[in-house]
Amino acid sequence: MKVPIIYFVIPCFNEEECLIETTKQLKEKIAKLINIKKINTKSKIIYIDDGSEDKTWQIIESLDNQVIGIKLSKNQGHQNALLAGLMYAKNHCDAAISMDADLQDDVSTIDSFIDKFSNGTDIVYGVRAERKKDSFFKKHTALFFYRLMNNLGANTIYNHADYRLMSRRALEELSKFQEVNLFLRGIVPTIGLKTDIVKYNRAERFAGKSKYPIKKMINFAIDGITSFSIKPIRLILLIGILVSFISFIVLCYAIVVKLANQAISGWTFTICSIWLLGGIQIIALGIIGEYVGKTYSETKHRPRYIIEKIKES
Ligand code: UDP
Ligand code: MG
Repeated sequence: MKVPIIYFVIPCFNEEECLIETTKQLKEKIAKLINIKKINTKSKIIYIDDGSEDKTWQIIESLDNQVIGIKLSKNQGHQNALLAGLMYAKNHCDAAISMDADLQDDVSTIDSFIDKFSNGTDIVYGVRAERKKDSFFKKHTALFFYRLMNNLGANTIYNHADYRLMSRRALEELSKFQEVNLFLRGIVPTIGLKTDIVKYNRAERFAGKSKYPIKKMINFAIDGITSFSIKPIRLILLIGILVSFISFIVLCYAIVVKLANQAISGWTFTICSIWLLGGIQIIALGIIGEYVGKTYSETKHRPRYIIEKIKES
C-alpha cells in the first residue's frame, strides 16, 4: 500500500498564543512519521482562521509551505470552520485528522490513528480516557449532554469531541450532507463505514482561554439536539394528550362537586374549559410540530443511503 498523505485540519479562533507551539509540535510529529514511512512527505497542516481578531492570520501566513491557511470571511463557528478545512483536505489527502489548536488533543496519539487507518479503518474517533483536567462543571454538563443527546436519538460517541481521523472516502460521504446547522459529532457516526476508537488523555489548554464560553456551549447543545431529533416536538404532543386526559378527570371531579351542590355558579364551566382548551391547544401545537418536523428533515437533503461496497460479477 502506498504511504498515505495525511492532512491535519485545525480551526483557529484567536489562537495567537497557541499557534507557534502547536505548529512546532505537529511538525516534529509529522517529520518523525515521514521518517518511519508511516505518512507521505506531502502531508500538511491546514489552519482555518475562523475570523480571528488577533494575530492568528499573520502567524499562519508567516509559516512555511507545509502549512496551508484558509481564512474565513468572519467568525462562522468551530463546526463550520472545521468543515471548510475538511472539504479542502478531501481533494488532496488520503485521510484528514481534525484537532484543536490548543494542544488539548494529545499529539502522541496520532500514531494510533494512522495505524488504524492503514489497517483499513475509515473513521477513527479520539475518545477521552478520563476527564480529570476538566472542571467539575464542564465534566458534568458534558456527560449530561451526551446522555441527553443519545436519549433523544442522536448517536454521538461517548466522550468524543472533534479529534478524529476520516479517510478520503468518509470525507466524500460527509460532503453529501447538505445541512446548514452543522453538528459533526452527530453526523459523522451516521456515515457508518469501518470505524474504531483511540483513547487519549486530554491535556489542558496550552495557552489562552476556551473559545467555548457557556453561551456558545448552550447554543451548541441546542443545535445538537434540534438538528438530530424531533423528539422534543413529540414530547409536546404527549404532554397535550396527558393534559387532555387530566381534563377528563377534572371534568368528573367538577361534575361531582356540582352535584354535591358545593360549586359556586360558573365554576364548573370555567374549570373544565381551562383544562380542556389547554389540552387541545397543546395537542394542536404538537401536530403542527410533527409537520414542521417532517419539513425540517426534508429540507436537510441528507443522503438517503451510503453504500459500503458493491460486488460486481
Ligand atoms: N474555534 C473556532 N471558532 C469558534 C470557536 C472555537 O474555530 O468560534 C476553535 C478553537 O480555536 C479551537 C477549537 O475550535 O481550536 C476548539 O475550541 P476550544 O479549544 O476553545 O474549546 P474547548 O476545548 O474549550 O471546548
Ligand atoms: Mg480546546
